[in-house]
Amino acid sequence: APYREVDVHELLDSTLLMLSGKIGPQMRLVKEYDRSLPQVPAYPAELNQVWTNLIDNAVQAIGGAGGEGTLTVRTAREGDRMLVEFRDTGPGVPEEIRGRIFDPFFTTKPVGQGTGLGLDISWRIVVNKHHGSLEVESVPGDTRFRVLLPLTAPDA
Ligand code: ADP
Ligand code: MG
Repeated sequence: APYREVDVHELLDSTLLMLSGKIGPQMRLVKEYDRSLPQVPAYPAELNQVWTNLIDNAVQAIGGAGGEGTLTVRTAREGDRMLVEFRDTGPGVPEEIRGRIFDPFFTTKPVGQGTGLGLDISWRIVVNKHHGSLEVESVPGDTRFRVLLPLTAPDA
């Protein structure tokens, strides 16, 4: 997929629409978009994969389509970067594993339910392909995966 100016909100909406079957009726979806943000130079198919991985994890943390909880997708400007944050009200990432969740094949899910590749792939897409960063902040009931993307092409 080509590197081009991407409307991140449009991309988020289309990913959320694709995943709407996984987001159950008890689950609340909140969008907090800063619509004043400009488009960002990016690979849309790859970013779609990042959103999918992070939303999948959030939905699983909340407890699958039958779980009660809130998924909040927020965007904001942070200096010269765009923040795309996925926040869930699930149990959180225990501190003792927080340093390993981005490792390939690291999973706490039962065999067949998790490959342990989602965060590894997401890290490579965000950090290596977009010169962005991917951070996690987590306490029980409030887990945030924060994607930061440069607003302008790094080599422009
Ligand atoms: P998988 O989802 O296949 O287990 P990932 O790379 O997507 O692999 O995630 C690795 C691990 O990180 C998960 O098994 C889980 O322990 C933890 N994790 C990821 N996202 C969340 C989240 N939103 N809440 C709690 N734990 C999470
Ligand atoms: Mg995953």
